[in-house]
Amino acid sequence: MTQDKRQRSCAERIGEEYQDTFEKIRLYDAIVRNGGFRCRDCDHLWTTPDVPDENSEPDDPELQAESEPKADCPKCHALDLEEIGPDTDDLPSFVGLDPLSLDLRYSVRVQFSWDGPSDHLDLTLDTDGALLCASYHFFDWFDGAAREITGDDLQEVEAYMQHDFGLGDSLLESLKSR
Ligand SMILES: [Zn+2]
Repeated sequence: MTQDKRQRSCAERIGEEYQDTFEKIRLYDAIVRNGGFRCRDCDHLWTTPDVPDENSEPDDPELQAESEPKADCPKCHALDLEEIGPDTDDLPSFVGLDPLSLDLRYSVRVQFSWDGPSDHLDLTLDTDGALLCASYHFFDWFDGAAREITGDDLQEVEAYMQHDFGLGDSLLESLKSR
């Protein structure tokens, strides 16, 4: 990691991280649908292109040839390839999408007003009913905006919920009994 990278904020970096993660999700989905290849030399992973619709098949033979799967690695041109499909062991870790955990969260909507305009809070609670994060949402006809609640405001929301509804087990129990 370069000095420059350490100084960049998450707000500046999230665009690249988002793109990187969604490239993996799209690649995973494409391999499950069409199969793919892994290069044994450089570990590059790619998928065979989607089968084009009969109606949209290109007339140009050069374009047709380009859509054929290549017999060498597009990155390093090695020929030692492993064919992979949806049943491949460890496909998620091949693609780099092997989640460390799946954690259950509860989402609670606190609706203050209906219709146009309307506003509400969305709260995220852990399975013990503790407040993890919250956002404020405002909607008017065909329009809407949302804001993450942070710092002192988040503490205010926590105190308000605690006072009016309770947090933790008491909130979870009252929500389940509705
Ligand atoms: Zn390669």
